[in-house]
Amino acid sequence: MTIVENEVQIPGQIVVLDPQDGSTVGTVPAASKADAERAVDFASRAFESYRTLPANVRSSALAEVAKLLHEEREEFSRLIAREGIKTIREARREVARCVNTLKLSAEEVSRLTGETIPFDQAEGSENRVGYYRRIPLGVVVAITPFNDPLNLVAHKIGPAIAAGNAVILKPHSETPLSAQRLVNLFARTGLPAGLLQMLTGRGSEIGDTLVSDPRVRMISFTGGKDVGKHIQAIAGVKKLAMELGSSCPVIVFPDADEALALDASISGAFWAAGQNCLHVQRLLLHETIFDDFARQFCQRATALRVGNKLDDATDMGPMINEQAAKKLEALVVDALDSGASLLCGGRRQGNVFFPTVLANVDPTCAIAEEEVFGPVTILERFNSVEEAIAKANSVDHGLQAGIFTRDLNIAFRVADALDCGGVMINDSSDFRIDAMPFGGTKGSGIGREGVAHAAREMSDVKTYCFNLQQSVGCETDL
Ligand code: NAD
Repeated sequence: MTIVENEVQIPGQIVVLDPQDGSTVGTVPAASKADAERAVDFASRAFESYRTLPANVRSSALAEVAKLLHEEREEFSRLIAREGIKTIREARREVARCVNTLKLSAEEVSRLTGETIPFDQAEGSENRVGYYRRIPLGVVVAITPFNDPLNLVAHKIGPAIAAGNAVILKPHSETPLSAQRLVNLFARTGLPAGLLQMLTGRGSEIGDTLVSDPRVRMISFTGGKDVGKHIQAIAGVKKLAMELGSSCPVIVFPDADEALALDASISGAFWAAGQNCLHVQRLLLHETIFDDFARQFCQRATALRVGNKLDDATDMGPMINEQAAKKLEALVVDALDSGASLLCGGRRQGNVFFPTVLANVDPTCAIAEEEVFGPVTILERFNSVEEAIAKANSVDHGLQAGIFTRDLNIAFRVADALDCGGVMINDSSDFRIDAMPFGGTKGSGIGREGVAHAAREMSDVKTYCFNLQQSVGCETDL
């Protein structure tokens, strides 16, 4: 399959461009299939050599990287803001979260415990004792997207190292520089070479080699549904973690704290210019509050300062490339052609798409079904709890949802009925802390991240059973 990525073609190199002005931020090697095979060879040998590496060494390396990252937080933030789509304020937030993700990973090392097993519960096994413990899988391939180029990398390599695996990281080829700098921090710790490698390259060139190699025991993928499906089709028998896209709903009931709902949903709709898997794509408003809420939401969306990512005053930056912005524009035009109302925005300038709010969208339009992954939010009306639930569940995605209400009964009822991986009550769909379980249902993926959960998915359970003799040979005088 061919995934087109926005790169200047220089043989053997990938030039990383700032999506804001096309200036060069850096270059990285463009790995080949042969490089990918060598990386798997090296990782397999490193895993064999270090499979008994003590937990305290892994934990110390992770804690040390968290400390170094905190010390270099401003340099990392500027790099994220230059290579990607985030404003400097958004980038600083990502770095702070990444420090926490690595600290959690360091702590998780000591929580990956086992249990004793009561073998004597089975007749005939009275002489047996045993336990299970967690063991690493082996080689884990981590494939990451462009939108959170640092913290989503940490969400994979942190738990993978905590669990004792050898990791090969393949970051997105448009945003590999902050990941590369993070991997370089690991090289300054006591983590043996080969347990963490990074391959910078195009997914279309090296992806299949990494994914289909039988020596790779797990693919941990975060990205779009199309690439996810392709990986699933060719991976063979190995563990898969799939963190895919969504079309998250936020439901606002008439008794909600309106100011809270507005603040949270504006931030959730336009954070990272909507290039966020938890982006508020659908805002479901009760009929009685629709007009007033829609007016205030549009006022706030229009007031967002779109501009220079490195300026502290900027609220929203560009999309990753012009192709992505044009794709979003086509979705909006298609919706408008089918009768949707444009409440604000709808304008594209190069790869900048201005905050856009739509209403009266025909449910058969592509934008009503697909993830927009950009700064567009669709407003919908509902009249009853059942209608809100049905509308929220109507898409083939189920990552997270938000509900705003003061009524506990409604909150519990709706939260139980929503078919998704997490429901935030009195927060927008985009609320997340790095320790919580995170992942989706339906087309949003398979498995859960969040450090403790990812570390368990990236390890196996091994059972030990001792069949003890009734009388032992070594008699004592006791
Ligand atoms: P993408 O699918 O285009 O790329 C993701 C990664 O896959 C990149 O590293 C890319 O190089 C690689 N890739 C491409 N072709 C490949 C192949 N054949 N084999 C192996 N790897 C290949 O996604 P993107 O545009 O970077 O990110 C946007 C998507 O990611 C959105 O759908 C978004 O919702 C999703 N996302 C999900 C989460 C989550 O946690 N659920 C978080 C962030 C982003």
